[in-house]
This record gives sequence, C-alpha cells and structure tokens, in this order.
Amino acid sequence: MATKYLLSEEQLPNVWYNLMADLPTPPPAPLHPATLQPAGPDDLAPLFPMGLIMQEVSTERFIEIPEEVRDIYRLWRPTPLLRAARWEKALGTPAKIFYKYEGVSPAGSHKPNTAVAQAWYNKQEGVTRLTTETGAGQWGSALALACQLLGMQCLVYMVKVSYFQKPYRRSMIRVWGAEVIPSPSDTTTAGRAILAADPDSPGSLGIAISEAVEVAAQRDDTHYSLGSVLNHVLLHQTVIGQEALLQMEQADAYPDYVVGCVGGGSNFAGISFPFLGENLTKGKKTRIIAVEPAACPTMTRGVYAFDYGDTAKLTPLLKMETLGHDFIPPGIHAGGLRYHGMAPLVSHAHQLGLIDAQAVLQTEAFSAGVSFARSEGIIPAPESSHAIAMVRQLAEECKQSGEAKTILFNLSGHGHFDMAAYDQYLDGKLEDYAYPEEKIREAMKNLPVV
Ligand SMILES: *Cc1c(COP(=O)(O)O)cnc(C)c1O
Repeated sequence: MATKYLLSEEQLPNVWYNLMADLPTPPPAPLHPATLQPAGPDDLAPLFPMGLIMQEVSTERFIEIPEEVRDIYRLWRPTPLLRAARWEKALGTPAKIFYKYEGVSPAGSHKPNTAVAQAWYNKQEGVTRLTTETGAGQWGSALALACQLLGMQCLVYMVKVSYFQKPYRRSMIRVWGAEVIPSPSDTTTAGRAILAADPDSPGSLGIAISEAVEVAAQRDDTHYSLGSVLNHVLLHQTVIGQEALLQMEQADAYPDYVVGCVGGGSNFAGISFPFLGENLTKGKKTRIIAVEPAACPTMTRGVYAFDYGDTAKLTPLLKMETLGHDFIPPGIHAGGLRYHGMAPLVSHAHQLGLIDAQAVLQTEAFSAGVSFARSEGIIPAPESSHAIAMVRQLAEECKQSGEAKTILFNLSGHGHFDMAAYDQYLDGKLEDYAYPEEKIREAMKNLPVV
C-alpha cells in the first residue's frame, strides 16, 4: 500500500473548477453598500481588476489557469496526497484516511494558490500595488510572496494584536518585500475613527479590511486583494480538489467524506467543490463537511443574511452566513478561522443542504492535531486541526460500526508559527470558549436592513 500519491508537473491541472456552473440555483448577487441595489461589475472596478470581476460572476464550468500562474504554482504544486495509515492504526479505525497537504507552499498554507492568481490578473491590467488585511499573517505573507514573484508592491494591514504577538509572519512579509502596518492605524480615516473611540483597540479583520479597502479606493495604481470569501478566491483554490480527484483515482479510492476547516471558506471550497461537482453531475454521494471553531460559529449558529464584509461598511453587502460585521472574535488560536462571515458560495451550498457544518472546541482541535502529529509527523496549523478533530470523530464512528469508510481532508497548512499555542495546550492552559448567545443576538441587531 502506497503512502504518498504524487502527480508530475505535467499533471498540474490547467483549469479551475467553477461550482456556479452546477448549482441548482445561483447564490444572490452582492449589493452596493450605499444604494443597496445589486452591485454590477463597474461597482467593483475601483477595487478589483476586470479579469477577477468576470470570474466572480462567471458560470463557465472550467476556467483556464494562465500559463504564468501555473509556472509559479510549479514551485510547490502539485502538492502531495497522503494516506494517513499510521494514524489510522493509532486510532484503531477501519476507516481509510487520506489528506491533501497544502503546507508545502513557501508560505506554509493553501493561500498562495489565490494570491499568485490575484496578483497576476491585477498585473495584466496595469496595477502595480496591492493592499490587503491579514489576521495572524498567513494571508499577508502569501500575498507578499505573490507580489514579490510578480514584481509588484504590496501593503499589508495586520491586526494589531497579532502584529505584536506573532512577529514571525510579519517578518516573512518583510522578507518578501512588502510593507506591513499594525491595524487600526492612523494612516486611514477608518483606522483613525477606531483609534479615537478606543486607543487600545486590538484590531480585527473587519477593521483591517476597512483600512486596506480605503487605501485601494483612493489610488488608480492600487487595488485591494481579499484572501478568502469571494467567488474568485474559492475558484482559484479548486486546484487543490482538481489534483485530489486525480490522486484519489491513483489510490484507487473515492471519498465517502470530504472534510475541511472553514474561516472564510476558501480551502474548504478548494478541496470540496470539485467533489461536490461530482455529486451534482455524476450522482456521487460524498458527504462534505465544513468545520468551524465553536468560538466563531458562523455556519452553525449565525444567520443567513446580507451583511458587510468589514467594520466600516465600505465593502459590498454579501448574502452569507454571518455573526454580524461588528463581531470581535475571542482570542482563540486558530487566527485564520476568526472571520465573522462565510463565503457566499459556501453559505448558499449549506442553505441548499449540499454540505454540512460542524463546530469543534479548540482543545478538541489541538488534541486531534497532536494525535495526528505523533503518527504522521506533520504538525498541523491550528486551523487545519479543526478538520482533523472532525476526521477523528468520523474515524471513531467507523470503529464503532465496523465500516471502512474513506475520508479525505485538507491539511491546509503547517503549524510552525503556532508553537506557543501548542505549548499552552500541552501545559494544560488552553481554555475552551463557545461564543455566547447574547453576543450573537446583539450583533444581529446591527445587520443592514435590505
Ligand atoms: C487562512 C487559513 C485558513 C482559513 O481560511 P479559509 O479561507 O477558510 O481557508 C485555514 N487554514 C490555514 C492554514 C490558513 O492559513
């Protein structure tokens, strides 16, 4: 039995898969933040290049990956798919567990898959600088890398608490030649307003997005880039699932379950949408599960409504599962899973009953991550460990029932910059936190009325 399923560089997919082509109904279009009317391509043009806006609304099933983007992908793609045989044995489960490992990218996660594509489409239209926000730094570092490889400038607003507490991703951003500013900052109107109200604000993704969007809207040579949530971002990540389809075939297996963690939904969509496409067009019956933290329960406890993507209400309104745009997340360690909203496409698929969602507590995630590391070697990102916790539950169910189900999950990144959190877990100091119901109700009062 093989451990590793590898593809040659020639087998790197030449198309992304667009779920929009196969959905029974389309998701609702975004609304303009001022007029609350459907936002057309022109409304998005100050922030995004037309190439990406067209992908945002495309209903073509397959979209070609530009040759230069594939060239850069080849620095780390195709990524390996592995059979977690040692972990299966440790768990004593008859389940067959496979994982796709995205931690082999230079930034250590799946995020460069879209960063490179976004930078490339911007460059084609003469944009020379990108702005963005970053939480713990995974997205900021991925975009810095992409801009560096394509000869563009990059400005990153990094959530202040992470800027000071997690300095090494900030260092990576600088090594790859980008500028990084702690948010909220005094460089934007949005940042100054937050600081006036609370000089000690730790910042949030919503605030940092407001700052990055404001800067991009002001200058013609500058666009904004978002690391998750939007349709084009999810599209770029489907290279993961496109490869996994080929690799599962190599392994002579097909998943009964596909599992991914969700922050904004991009790595989950990346691994699962191609398999969801097989469900929709070829009658396959794979159960697809999105896993979120109990501390940021967007899909399991949020509402499906139009909401802003940021705190200052500058972005278009998206119909999504949301905890409210002024959600300030508790300080859990899976920094990448703390966004208030869920990708409209993932939310829509969930509402249609095409995918499931589950929440797990962070100690459960760390416990599963450690268990996985002790068998498979790789130390997972705390975000990915949420998916691993779900896989362990499924493996446990198989043990009870004696069924040898096939499970595929996305190992979205490694945890090498999260070792302080692992220490806390191992020292028994990590606490669980479920987001309180009254805070959810409170935030819902501020949802826009459309
Ligand atoms: C950012 C990140 C996530 C969460 O983002 P999605 O858009 O939901 O994929 C998950 N895992 C890792 C390793 C990340 O860096």
